Amino acid sequence: MIDLHCHTTCSDGTLTPAELIAEAGVRGITTLAITDHDTLDAYDRLPPVLDVAELIRGIELSIDFPSGTFHLLGYLVDPHEPRLLATVEQLQAWRSERNELILDKLVDAGLPINADDMAALAEAGQVGRPHLARLLMRRGAVTSVQEAFDRYLAAGQPCYVPKSRLDLPTALDLLHGAGGAAVLAHPYQLKLSDADLTSHVAEWARRGLDGIEVYYPVHTPAMLEFYDSLADAHGLVRTGGSDFHGALKPSIILGELGHELPPDEVILEPLRAAAERWR
Ligand code: AMP
Ligand code: FE
Ligand code: FE
Ligand code: ZN
Repeated sequence: MIDLHCHTTCSDGTLTPAELIAEAGVRGITTLAITDHDTLDAYDRLPPVLDVAELIRGIELSIDFPSGTFHLLGYLVDPHEPRLLATVEQLQAWRSERNELILDKLVDAGLPINADDMAALAEAGQVGRPHLARLLMRRGAVTSVQEAFDRYLAAGQPCYVPKSRLDLPTALDLLHGAGGAAVLAHPYQLKLSDADLTSHVAEWARRGLDGIEVYYPVHTPAMLEFYDSLADAHGLVRTGGSDFHGALKPSIILGELGHELPPDEVILEPLRAAAERWR
């Protein structure tokens, strides 16, 4: 059993790397990938003994794109490759600057949150909008994380600040340079028509995209079939993951991908081969 898309406290998940791996073991997952947003820190915080047979080093990068959300998963990367690490540090620096701007807006909006709160959050690791949403909930300013996004933090709302993102060629080059494979995450979040996604995926495959996340909890059978056909058309590998975030997204269960998957090796073998091509 595999789950190739999960988050820890190093980004916006609520389980530490050790807790996540222990939970994966309990759930019978044999191959797990940790894919935190814009950070590889989890790989410096692993427990001495892993409860899964295989841990695939991963990351989820946010890519600059005009519509929807473009997330690129990197798999089997060297978490200490200098250029990738330097870029990840740059992303963290941009994120800190952005958090300051969001804080200013929250304070201006009269919300019960201040620079000390921000400093306390930052001590725990990477801070993003989900952390701010949970803090606003604890303070009673909103009754749910979703309400915090809908009223304040989402694009178009008064406390929104855009995030600096990598462009796709740079991200592909970085992941490949770190010996990894690059996979388009949850394609529906791009919010493209089928025709537009088809032409974009063709272009991205030409530029070096290695795979597409076909198996994902909220994909319908029709979406799955469509993404599967894109994989076929462009020789892309198929991956699958739950996008587990712990208590932040309580409806997502670690290891439950919502579909019957091919045998593990049918997924893992092409993924390893795709990464190998760049070494
Ligand atoms: P950030 O990296 O700080 O921009 O935060 C991105 C994360 O916020 C995503 O991974 C989602 O978990 C969450 N998120 C983004 N937009 C929304 C939204 N409209 N409603 C709820 N959660 C959201
Ligand atoms: Fe997330
Ligand atoms: Fe994502
Ligand atoms: Zn994710």
